[in-house]
Amino acid sequence: MFSLDAPLTPRELSQLDRERVWHPYTTSPTDSEHPVVDSAEGVRLRLAEPVHGVDELIDGMSSWWAAIHGYAHPELDAAAHAQVDRMSHVMFGGLTHENAVRLAATLTEITPESLDHVFLADSGSVSVEVALKMCLQYWRGLGRPEKRRVLTWRGGYHGDTWHPMSVCDPEGGMHHLWRGALPEQVFAEAPPAGFSAEADADYLEHLEGLLRRHSGELAAIIVEPVVQGAGGMRFHSPEYPRRLRELADRHGVLLVFDEIATGFGRTGELFAADHAGVAPDVLCLGKALTGGYLTMAATVASGRVAEGIAGGEVPVLAHGPTFMGNPLAAAVARASLRVLLRDDWRARVRRIESGLASGLAPAAELPGVRDVRVLGAIGVIQLDRPVDTAAAAAAAVERGVWLRPFRDLIYTMPPYVIADEDLARVTEAAVAAARVG
Ligand SMILES: *Cc1c(COP(=O)(O)O)cnc(C)c1O
Repeated sequence: MFSLDAPLTPRELSQLDRERVWHPYTTSPTDSEHPVVDSAEGVRLRLAEPVHGVDELIDGMSSWWAAIHGYAHPELDAAAHAQVDRMSHVMFGGLTHENAVRLAATLTEITPESLDHVFLADSGSVSVEVALKMCLQYWRGLGRPEKRRVLTWRGGYHGDTWHPMSVCDPEGGMHHLWRGALPEQVFAEAPPAGFSAEADADYLEHLEGLLRRHSGELAAIIVEPVVQGAGGMRFHSPEYPRRLRELADRHGVLLVFDEIATGFGRTGELFAADHAGVAPDVLCLGKALTGGYLTMAATVASGRVAEGIAGGEVPVLAHGPTFMGNPLAAAVARASLRVLLRDDWRARVRRIESGLASGLAPAAELPGVRDVRVLGAIGVIQLDRPVDTAAAAAAAVERGVWLRPFRDLIYTMPPYVIADEDLARVTEAAVAAARVG
C-alpha cells in the first residue's frame, strides 16, 4: 500500500518526515523532530501526539505572519466551502472570475491612491519577481534597457527565488555561495535601528551618494518599509521610506515596497507605507492576504508603471503562473479582507501592542538580552549571541506556545484575535525562551 493511505501512527509519520521531507531551511534526512499538527482552531494548534506533555499550542507566529484571524475562522471557512462547491480553480489566461476582479479592485481601494493595477501572484517571492520584472520592463519600454540593477539596504528579506534572493541581505542570503550566479545588486548599509520620527543625516547622505553614483544603471529601489522581517526583525524610522520616495523621484528610479510581512495592519497602520505617508510605484503583498488559508500574493502597481510597460516594444507583462488568480484563494482573501476591515483591526493591534510591551518587558532584565522591542502586533527579544533555538523553542512548547526563534531572535506576531490571557502566555513563553536560549 502506498503511504498516501497506509495506516500510520504519529510516530511513523514523524519518522517518514525525517527521512523523506525537506522543511524550510533544513537538511533531508534530518535528526530534528517536528511536532505533527492534526488540526487548528482559533489561536490553537492541536497536536497529533503530545510534545513535552502538551497537546495544544498557542500559535505565537500566526503561521509566519499569515493567520491574522486565527484558524478555522467561520467566515473564511464558509467562503472556502462555498467556493469549492462552485470551482476550486480555472485558468486566468483568457478567462476571468468575480473573486479575482473584486479582490483586485479592493486592493487598489485600500492601498495608497496611485496604485491601481494588480497582478495576482501565487506566492510572495513570485510577487517580488513580478515587481522587479515590471520595473526592468518599464525602463526598457522607455528605451533605457541599461537600467536593470536594483538598490536595497542590508538586513532585508524578499523571498527565496532568484531575483528576490539577490536583494536579500548578502550575509543572511549567503550571497558568497552564489557569487557569479546571482545578479549583483547595489547595497546600502542597513537603516539605523529604532522606530522614531528622526532620520540620521549621514545615513541619508549615504543613500543619496549611492543613487548619485548608480542611478544610470538602476531600475528600482526595493525595501521593506519600517520593519525588516526575516532579515533580522529590525524596526526603523518611517522617515527613511519617506526620503527614499524623494530620492527615487529626484534620481529617476522606481520605488518598490515589499509589504508581504507588514501589510494588513501588522505594524499598527494598514500598510507600513502609511506610517511614512508615501506611495511606492509598486507594492508587494502576501502572507496575511488570504488570512493564512492559501498561498496568494499581489503586486500592485501605479498607472505610470503599467503605461510604461504597455508603451514598450513588447507591451505585455510577460508573466502568467498556472495558478494565477486562483478562485479559491481569492474567495478566502475577500472574506479575510472583509473581516479585517469590518472588525476594528486597529484597536486589536493596539491591544496586542500594549500586551506585548508589558509582557516582554521582564526580558530586558535578563542576562544576555540585548534589546526588547515592540511595534504594532510584533514583539522581539534580541539576545547578544545566537539563540540555542532547540532549547528556546522547547521552553515555549513546555508552556503551551509555538515560537520559532532564529539567529539571535525570539519573536512573536500573534493572530489579531488572540485573547489577553493567551497573549500573556505567549509573552511568558517568549521570556522563558530567552532565559534558556
Ligand atoms: C515571506 C516574505 C517574502 C516571501 O514570500 P513567500 O510567500 O514565502 O514566497 C518576501 N518578502 C517578505 C518581506 C516576506 O516577509
